[in-house]
Amino acid sequence: MHYGHALTFGTFLTPSARDPGQVVSLATRAEELGFDLVTIQDHPYQPAHLDAWTLLTWLAGRTRRVTLAPGVLNLPLRAPAVLAGAAASLDRLSGGRLALALGAGAFWKAIGAMGGRTLSPGESVAALSEAIDLIRARWDVTGEGPVRLHGEHYHVDGAARGPAPAHDVPLWLGAAKPRMLRLLGEKADGWVVTHQLLRPGQLAQGNRRIDEAAVAAGRDPREIRRLLNVSGDFLGGPGEKWVEELLPLVVDDGVGTFILMTDDAETLERFAGEVAPALREAVERELPGAFPRPLRRAAVRARRREGIAYDDLPETLAETAIEPGDVGYAEVRSTYLRGGAPGLVLRPGTEEEVAEALAFARAHPHLPLSLRSGGHGISGRSTNDGGIVLDVSRLDSIDVVDPARRRVHIGPGARWMDVAAALAPHGLALTSGDYGGVGVGGLATAGGLGFLAREHGLTIDHLRAVRMVLADGSVVRASDHENPDLFWAVRGAGANFGIVTSFEFEADEVGDVGWAQLVFDASDTAGLLHRWGAAQEAAPRDVTSFLLVSPPRRGRPPMAHLMAMVDTADPETILDRLRPLAEIGPLYDQSVVLTSYASVMANASPDAHDGRGEPVTRSAFAEHITPEFAADAERLIRGGAVYFFQIRSVGGAVADVPPDATAYAHRSANFSVTTFGVDRRRVDAAWDRLAEHVDGLYLSFETDTRPERLADAFPPATLRRLRELKAAYDPDNVFRDNFNITPSTTKEPTHA
Ligand SMILES: Cc1cc2nc3c(=O)[nH]c(=O)nc-3n(C[C@H](O)[C@H](O)[C@H](O)COP(=O)(O)OP(=O)(O)OC[C@H]3O[C@@H](n4cnc5c(N)ncnc54)[C@H](O)[C@@H]3O)c2cc1C
Repeated sequence: MHYGHALTFGTFLTPSARDPGQVVSLATRAEELGFDLVTIQDHPYQPAHLDAWTLLTWLAGRTRRVTLAPGVLNLPLRAPAVLAGAAASLDRLSGGRLALALGAGAFWKAIGAMGGRTLSPGESVAALSEAIDLIRARWDVTGEGPVRLHGEHYHVDGAARGPAPAHDVPLWLGAAKPRMLRLLGEKADGWVVTHQLLRPGQLAQGNRRIDEAAVAAGRDPREIRRLLNVSGDFLGGPGEKWVEELLPLVVDDGVGTFILMTDDAETLERFAGEVAPALREAVERELPGAFPRPLRRAAVRARRREGIAYDDLPETLAETAIEPGDVGYAEVRSTYLRGGAPGLVLRPGTEEEVAEALAFARAHPHLPLSLRSGGHGISGRSTNDGGIVLDVSRLDSIDVVDPARRRVHIGPGARWMDVAAALAPHGLALTSGDYGGVGVGGLATAGGLGFLAREHGLTIDHLRAVRMVLADGSVVRASDHENPDLFWAVRGAGANFGIVTSFEFEADEVGDVGWAQLVFDASDTAGLLHRWGAAQEAAPRDVTSFLLVSPPRRGRPPMAHLMAMVDTADPETILDRLRPLAEIGPLYDQSVVLTSYASVMANASPDAHDGRGEPVTRSAFAEHITPEFAADAERLIRGGAVYFFQIRSVGGAVADVPPDATAYAHRSANFSVTTFGVDRRRVDAAWDRLAEHVDGLYLSFETDTRPERLADAFPPATLRRLRELKAAYDPDNVFRDNFNITPSTTKEPTHA
C-alpha cells in the first residue's frame, strides 16, 4: 500500500546547547547532502537543549532549500494562537519552508503550562484538536471575521486572522495511540512516528486507523504523508541492507519520508550517498509511476468552484496553481483596484507552461479567462468571479542583452520599478508609467504614458519585438519583419491577441533627471488648468508633467499636485523648465531634486493586491486645455461625482509616430485626461459634459467596458483592421475579457 507521496528524506537533530555551532553545521550539511527536511527535537524543559523554535528560526536564515520542522513541537507549552503567527512568520521568512509537526507533549506541569494541570490522554487529544482548529483559523485570512474558539482547553475571543503562511504549511502529528491516530486521520497532514517504538504490525495498524478516520471525515487518506523516524544505529551494515530494510516500509506501509535520527555527520553522508539514491531507485522499480502530484486537503477541495476540472491540470502547472482554499489565495484573488474570486489562478513559469495553461483554460470555454501580469489593470479585468486567471507574474526576467545596442528583453511579470533599477547601472531607462508597481505585460501591450513621454514617446514605441502565445497555443515572434500585422496590433490592443511572454525593447540613454513636485491652491481651478496646459504645451520636450486636481474637502479649497520630470541633469535647465509651471497658481509646497529615473519609479508598495469592488474611471484625450474645457473640468471636479481628476501631458515624441503605425492611434493629443469616482452612473453623467472638449480614450485608464468605448479607443480604420486581425489570430474570441475586439466575419490569415 502506498499513498502517492514522492519519497523524501530528513534528519532529526538534537538541539544541544553545549555546542550550538554543531547542530547548525549538521543542518547546513544535511542541506548540502540533498536531504529534504531537517527536524529538531523540542524539549524546552531540558536544560541541555536550545529552544527548538529559536533554533529553527536561526536555521531558516542559514539554509536555502531544505524544509524545516520541529520534531515534534511540544504543543501544550506553546499557546496555539501565538504559535500560528510564529509559524506563519517563519514560513514567510524562510520562503515557504516550514512544516509544523505537533505532539501532545510532556512535562507541561513542570513548565507551568496548561494551568499546571496534568491532562489525561483524552484531554491531550482534545487540546490538540482545538489547537489545530485554532492554528488553521488564524492562517485562513480569507475567513469571515476574527477567530473565536471557546473550547475545553483554549478560549480565543476575537483574534485577528493572519499573517497567512507563504505556503500550505503541512500540519503533522506525532502519534501512536488510537485516539491520537483518529484525530490525525480527521485533521492532520502527516503522521510522524518512530520506528523503534513500534511493535511489528503496528505501522500497518496505525495506517488503518488513520485511513478509517480520514474516510469517515470525508478525506482521502492519500492527503496524509507517513513519516518514519529511523535510528542511525538501525543503519549498521552495508547500504544494500538498509535498502532491503526500508523498501518494504515504503511499498507495504506507505512510508513517504524517512527521518534519520543521528547527530553524526558521517552517518548523514553515508545515508545521503548510498542509501537515499539506491532506495529511490528501488522504489521507482517496485512502484513505477506511483507518485502523482500531492493531493490537496479535503478542506481545500471543498472550496473548489463549479465547472473547473482541477484534477486534469497538467503536473507542471498543478504545483504552482492556486485554488480558493489555498493559503496563497488571498494574495492572488484580487487586483490592485478590483476585488475578485477566481476559481483557479494558474501561474506558469515558462513559455511552454503558458501554452499549457492556455490549453487548460480553453478546455473551459464557458468560464471567464483573465490575463494577468502585474495586476494593476485599471479596468480590473485581470481577475474574475469563478473563472480562470492566467497569471504570468513569474515570467519576470529583465536582461540587458546588448548594452551597446540598448537591447533589453523583459518578461511580462516584471514591474517597472525593477526594470528601471536593472537598466540604471547601464545608463539606460525605458519610458513607462508613473507607478513602479505596474506590470510590464499590461502597460506594454496598451501604450505606456509616463514621465518621459514627451521626450521619449510611449513605452510601445520602444518595442522591437514580442514573443507571444496565440489563442491556438502556437508561439510566435512578432516584429516589423515577422508577423508585422500582429506586431502592429500588439502595440495598443495586445490583450486581445494573445499572451505576450517576452518583450524585446530598445531602451534610451537617460542620466539623472530633475524631479519636481509642486502643490498649488486650485481655488481658481479652471484658470490653473488652462495656465498649466498652455505652459506645458509651450515647454520643450524634455519636460513632461502631470496635474492631479482634488476636489474641495471639509472647508479646504481644491488642491493641485503637479509632478514633473525634466530629462536633463543640468540644474539650471531644470529650474528654467520648471519656472513657467510653478507660476500657474499660488504655491503651497515645492520640492525639486536631481535624481535617477529609477529612484522616481521606486515608489510602489510590495504588498499583495487587495482591491475591493469595481473601480469606476473614465478616460479621454484632449488636444488643448481650452478655457471652455477648463471651465467644464472645474464643474466636474467640484460636482462631487469624482474624487480624482488628472491630466497628463503627452504630445512631443508620442506625436512623431504616425497614427496608423501602431494600434494606439491617438498620437496628436497633447493631453490624457482621467477621472476616478465611486458611482458609475454619476461619474458617467458628469463625464459626458466634457465630451465636446475631448476625443478618444486610453484603454489602460478606462473602466467602462461597454462596446462603444472601443470606438473611442480606436478610430474606425484602426478598429476595422483590429477586427480583421482578430479573426485571423483569435477567431474563437478566446481573449475577450478586457475590452473585447470581436473578430470580423471575414477571416484573412496573416500568419507569416
Ligand atoms: C497605480 C497605477 C498607476 C498607473 N500609472 C500608469 C501610467 O503612468 N501610465 C500608463 O500608461 N498606465 C498606467 N497605469 C495603467 C496600467 O498601465 C495598466 O492598467 C496596465 O494594464 C497594468 O499592467 P499590469 O500588467 O500591472 O496589469 P494586469 O492587471 O496584470 O493586466 C491588465 C490587462 O492587461 C492585459 N495583459 C496583462 N498581461 C498581458 C500579457 N502578458 N499579454 C497580453 N495582455 C496582457 C490583460 O488584458 C489584463 O486584463 C496605472 C495603473 C495603476 C493601477
